[in-house]
Amino acid sequence: MDRIPAPTEPLPGRSCGGCTLFCKFMGVPEIDRPRRAWCPHCERGRGCGIYSDRPSGCRGFLCGWSTNPRFGPEWKPDRSKIVITVGRNGNGLDFQCDPGFPEAWRKEPYYGQIKRLAAIAIRHGGLISVNSGRNLIIAAPEREFAYAWPRPGKPATEALQTVGRIS
Ligand code: SF4
Ligand code: SF4
Repeated sequence: MDRIPAPTEPLPGRSCGGCTLFCKFMGVPEIDRPRRAWCPHCERGRGCGIYSDRPSGCRGFLCGWSTNPRFGPEWKPDRSKIVITVGRNGNGLDFQCDPGFPEAWRKEPYYGQIKRLAAIAIRHGGLISVNSGRNLIIAAPEREFAYAWPRPGKPATEALQTVGRIS
């Protein structure tokens, strides 16, 4: 997979519209907002209630759907329930499912596309991961591995323990 430079602008014709999935579960340090919790400034289905004053962590965030032409309209986060982010210094993608829809990635056309991307990534030392809310899943072309999130108060290295091969 080609290394993906950090995008600075959405693609022409792509705008967030009423998507507020970022505001549901992505952490924003400037406003001390934890991951997996609705931002108190979010007007659900409409947008940010402090849009002109939103913090830089929100201003600078552009998801994979908004910046990568590989992903068609079906991937818009408020439709797919998946936010795509670039990881591994541009050599990987992470598919973060809405915690209310942890299995969204297993639906088509998403699952097939994720598996095809995994096949491309593996040839280039890249990594395709899925955050299902409960587990971090590494998607390989022929199989998947689930890793547990660290328990509260436990070291992050616990996350490296394999929960199991799930396919
Ligand atoms: S997740 Fe993507 S489409 Fe949704 S608000 Fe963020 S940048 Fe816009
Ligand atoms: S400040 Fe606005 S853009 Fe940022 S998470 Fe909250 S509602 Fe979303």
